Amino acid sequence: MLQTKFLLPDNEIPTHWYNVVADMPKPPEPVLGPDGQPLTPDALSAIFPQALIEQEVSRERWIEIPQEVRELYRLWRPTALVRARRLEEALGTPAKIFFKYEGASPAGSHKLNSAIPQAYYNKQEGITRLTTETGAGQWGSSLSLAGEMFGIDVRIYMVNVSYQQKPFRRSMMQTWGGEVLASPSSLTTAGRAALAENPDNPGSLGLAIAEAVEEAASRPDTHYALGSALNHVLLHQTVIGLEARKQFELAGTWPDMIFAPCGGGSNFGGVAFPFFADNAAGRKQVRLVAVEPSSCPSLTRGHYAYDFGDSVGLTPLMKQYTLGHDFMPPSIHAGGLRYHGASSLVSQLYHEGLIEAVSVPQLATFEAGVAFARAEGIIPAPESCHAIRACIDEALRCKESGEEKTLFFNLSGHGHFDMASYDKYLSGALEDYEYPQEAIAAALARLPQLTA
Ligand SMILES: *Cc1c(COP(=O)(O)O)cnc(C)c1O
Repeated sequence: MLQTKFLLPDNEIPTHWYNVVADMPKPPEPVLGPDGQPLTPDALSAIFPQALIEQEVSRERWIEIPQEVRELYRLWRPTALVRARRLEEALGTPAKIFFKYEGASPAGSHKLNSAIPQAYYNKQEGITRLTTETGAGQWGSSLSLAGEMFGIDVRIYMVNVSYQQKPFRRSMMQTWGGEVLASPSSLTTAGRAALAENPDNPGSLGLAIAEAVEEAASRPDTHYALGSALNHVLLHQTVIGLEARKQFELAGTWPDMIFAPCGGGSNFGGVAFPFFADNAAGRKQVRLVAVEPSSCPSLTRGHYAYDFGDSVGLTPLMKQYTLGHDFMPPSIHAGGLRYHGASSLVSQLYHEGLIEAVSVPQLATFEAGVAFARAEGIIPAPESCHAIRACIDEALRCKESGEEKTLFFNLSGHGHFDMASYDKYLSGALEDYEYPQEAIAAALARLPQLTA
């Protein structure tokens, strides 16, 4: 029988996270304060624990994973690397297709990889409450579970439109002890201002972040946790790529191209950065492709500029590809990946031409997700469908050219709580939406003006 699953034993969970900053040709652009000057790390100590602030600015290549965190990773890690033989066959491609299944985590996505260490370091510092935002609900569920594991109360500001559309994600967070509020809420200044403008405000990730940060900054017992974009989040996610490298050795092949869905950039960074290390050292050359929706094309069509992480301007300024911090996602779009910006590290590597990005339209992503589910069984999260689309497109190019490339995508999560979106797709109610050029041009005028 042909081998399809490449498994690592429990004791091969990585002992260290990989920090890509050590291998970047240029140091990361500094984070700036409201005055446009580089921020000192302790300016963040009101909302983040010291250990995470250190990771945020670290240039060390390897950062040790605490033993307690590794123990909890063992609940589902190492995740399997799977050869998608039935998908290859269905496509009739000579390419080899592999995926790593992060949907095997109890919360259903890669996000628990960072939720656990974030809760751990906050607990170490004596923090008893965490606030956060969630869009589709994946991050909120992961942090609820991680908070429960460490005895930390978690309050989640959930983007209003998802709060209405995804009641079972909400129940999932509540099952793990999380408190869930629709954002905008009336509990914060940012939320009240948004509600005054529009009582039916659908909300956005940027607005939910503003609410969560505002609350955390106002209470000494409370910190804030972010599910993507920041350097320490990408760092935690590198367990995915580190495991994958070992698994490709077991499989006796090596990827030519890696695809990952890209919202804030954490699962992309997590799977791609450990392979970037080989690229940087000249050992191998693997093409690393971030895949984003054409309805929210931060990397492929955004501006590379300093911008806020939230809609109100409470966070520090980070250099990133952005559609403007006040970006309001079109509510006809089903999936996550609706963040206005992208991780600074991913943005910088993209700007320097060291990684690639493509955008794909929504209907084509669901088409790919359904094809994958019918061939391999797993129903992918709508976010993951973006990577599958790009990977299938490459596999079909290989079919034309006869190339036997090895393609690898990160199956960042399962879609079991996204069946309403599948339902819309299957009933023909889902539409494509191209983010308008005028809106992109208009965002430029509203970017924060820096006098450097
Ligand atoms: C959050 C999420 C993503 C995208 O977020 P990144 O920060 O870019 O990783 C992708 N897939 C799933 C399943 C998610 O939950």
